Amino acid sequence: MYSDVYELNYSKIKTYQECPVLYKYKYIEGKREGLVPASSLGVSIHRALEEYHKHCNDPAELLAYYDDCWLGAGYSSAGEQMEWYLKGKKMLETYAQAEYERKTTVDSAEREFIFQEGQWTLRGKIDRIDKHPDGSWEVIDYKTGTDVDLSLPVTESLQMGIYAVGARRAWNMQKGKATFYFVAFNQKVSAPFDAFDEKKILDTFISIGKKIETGDFEPNLEHCAVCPFNTRCEHSALAKQAQ
Ligand code: SF4
Repeated sequence: MYSDVYELNYSKIKTYQECPVLYKYKYIEGKREGLVPASSLGVSIHRALEEYHKHCNDPAELLAYYDDCWLGAGYSSAGEQMEWYLKGKKMLETYAQAEYERKTTVDSAEREFIFQEGQWTLRGKIDRIDKHPDGSWEVIDYKTGTDVDLSLPVTESLQMGIYAVGARRAWNMQKGKATFYFVAFNQKVSAPFDAFDEKKILDTFISIGKKIETGDFEPNLEHCAVCPFNTRCEHSALAKQAQ
């Protein structure tokens, strides 16, 4: 099997919620999604911020890290690549400006948590963890897309929920908050760790884990229109049309 069925993380759960067949393709059969411009830019920015925060933290150097970490895959032409490169550059110029004002200390970047809940192992990797002057923690997830709803409460996010639970369970960070950093808008949205319902979050993870364990992989055809496998999936109407 490609992936340990008893090991859960947010990406697996999200994929299963989108479509169980998509989960099977990605985590059991090991099929890969191709990169598209938005996802490729996301990789470049995440890599640049990881390297910058791990090795430097001088805002004047951030764009040099961006150039070093640039990933050219996923673009259909040099012109398209340049267009997206410039979008990312603009985001990081704004990020660098915000860095001059930062009052927190960056504790770590791309740090992985792991904890056990019964037979289940829960893992996650957090983009950035800050320590505030009052000793509290902030776990931060970067969002580089522009198609986002900034008004959605963070407490509704299963991703931030498991990060908040993971920070407490794996690292004993009792006081702190979980934050989405919308890099394209230079905007942060946060919720305190204790605003998340730990039981509900773990129940969601484990109930989906049990479905995966029993091989419950019914297609969710409502997701086909935006699914990266929709031209090669046996259940997809788009794939059938193409035949
Ligand atoms: S094309 Fe549709 S049925 Fe197939 S994996 Fe994607 S969402 Fe699921």
